[in-house]
Amino acid sequence: MITEPSRQIHLDFHTSESLPDIGAAFSREQFQEALKLGRVNQINVFAKCHHSWSYYPTRVGKPHPNLKVDLLGGQIEACHEIGVVAPIYFTGGWSAHDAETHPEWCMRTAGGDFVTHDWPANPGPSDAKPTFQWKELCVRGEYHELMLAQTEEICRDYPVDGFFYDIYRPHEICYCDQCRAGMASEGLDVTVESDVERYRAQTMQRHMKALSDVILASHPRASIYFNGLTALDRPQSFRYGLHRVNTKNDLEDLPTTWGGYDKFPLRAKIFHREKKPVVAMSGKFHTAWGEFGGFKDPEALRFEAASMIAYGASCNFGDHLHPLGLMDMTTYKNVGHAFEYVEKIEEFGLNSVPASNLGFWASYELEADEGLARMLLEEQIDFDAVGAGDDLSRFQTIVVPSHAGVLEGSEQQLKKYVADGGTLVLLGAGALNKAGDATVIDCGGTFLGCPDYDVDYSVISPALIAAEGADTSLHRSTELPESPFLNYAGALHFEIAESAEPLAELEEPYFSRTYGAYCGHQNTPNKPGVRRYPAAWRSGGVIVMAHGLDRMYFINGAKVHRDFFARVLRMVHTDPLVEADLPSAGRVSLLHQPQHNRYVVHLLYG
Ligand SMILES: [Zn+2]
Repeated sequence: MITEPSRQIHLDFHTSESLPDIGAAFSREQFQEALKLGRVNQINVFAKCHHSWSYYPTRVGKPHPNLKVDLLGGQIEACHEIGVVAPIYFTGGWSAHDAETHPEWCMRTAGGDFVTHDWPANPGPSDAKPTFQWKELCVRGEYHELMLAQTEEICRDYPVDGFFYDIYRPHEICYCDQCRAGMASEGLDVTVESDVERYRAQTMQRHMKALSDVILASHPRASIYFNGLTALDRPQSFRYGLHRVNTKNDLEDLPTTWGGYDKFPLRAKIFHREKKPVVAMSGKFHTAWGEFGGFKDPEALRFEAASMIAYGASCNFGDHLHPLGLMDMTTYKNVGHAFEYVEKIEEFGLNSVPASNLGFWASYELEADEGLARMLLEEQIDFDAVGAGDDLSRFQTIVVPSHAGVLEGSEQQLKKYVADGGTLVLLGAGALNKAGDATVIDCGGTFLGCPDYDVDYSVISPALIAAEGADTSLHRSTELPESPFLNYAGALHFEIAESAEPLAELEEPYFSRTYGAYCGHQNTPNKPGVRRYPAAWRSGGVIVMAHGLDRMYFINGAKVHRDFFARVLRMVHTDPLVEADLPSAGRVSLLHQPQHNRYVVHLLYG
């Protein structure tokens, strides 16, 4: 396995042709001073940007028209002089000048439009341009050949530590003329979306393999990464294993812009399954990429960096170099504050794997996965990712998000796991097959159908409320409500077997809230005592909770749902490898470093 440096910077340099004196103020000494101040040991530097310009004297591509120096070469030299690794950035799907001069290279929708967003029909030159707006390039044909030729040129002319290719979006499919012709020649049906998706995946695979082959032929130790293939909300990437071409997995995430700090832990655990280095990438800025003059508080950077190490990942913070080529020293002072701490703890985080006997069977559906992960993180119930084909024997319990079909194809494996003493906690539709019309495994219940009302109420069994003695965790003080409590979305309906143990029942509202009948401001109250269906039950080693508690927690964040879930989970997950008693913002991560024969507990609070 190629090891990854621990303290990285991703130095964006997307630089307009309307700007003068590109790189004119670059100084090797100033560049090195910034890297030393930031305690940086790897930095991604730019060969080609989103404007299509290159920052070295390319004969194959197009140098920035106002480029004053070989910026790429100067940066690599400066890095290598002080022992800093310098992978090379190269844009893929976003290349503005290429898109404008070669519209035939652009991806197209089924209707023939550019694949983009918010692009008006005829924008005037002084109209405001939205951020993050581009026309997506199709990585085949002449455009692919151009990328290949320029990669060959770089590999010949520079010492290559690695390549970072950017903007790969497997969830966007293409109907350009080249793709249409290619699909026809391979017998794929352009009117069938799954065929078009498959062809898009093939296109990307061919493109990525060709680039990788060129790099590895001359630089066999180079790291290679295609960005955009590790996002959990792009299941197309996982369906075709596109991310497997990467020699490492960068997990780009901007917590202060993209939805908070709880996306990363599950993602890190999922990618540790690939047995390749994991890099966590955030930004030094407050919002997102391209924010000149934006700063994240140094303490926030330190928390993010500590979290990255705690989940076994290298750290990477994004920055954007000023067009003149001077590094911003406040940025590197802030990053240095975080990386000084990383230097102290990195040996306890890198080259490690998550250690937990609670498995998380990811569904790659954002609300379900993140809601479930958030409940576990806030309860400090540490977990590891698990999936089809994995060795399940190390897990005491496996939790399954509320996504229909997530277990389909693994029925026999799970049956054996439960027969061998493993336990399962299934949330809502996670208990169902892909069609959503029957349970996927024997769980002591028969699926009857979807909810009749917009909301419903749970009534927890007195036995579960009183089951403090069965709770071996440190969280014994949480009291569950004796009253019916509201669910913001109704439960699936089941009939449970006589042998099953009910843990909670449903009470339904008098009616759904409609124009025809409604009650006051919000949801209709419950019909007390009328209980037709279970809200949760246990059948041997399998527990089903009939609501999508994960989605509800993601959307509504009601603590009562988390308390209920945690109490039920702890009935079967009685022997966690690590316990902590922290407030909900506390995080715990247990890592295994077999090479040092040790386990390391990381505790975070922020
Ligand atoms: Zn295409």
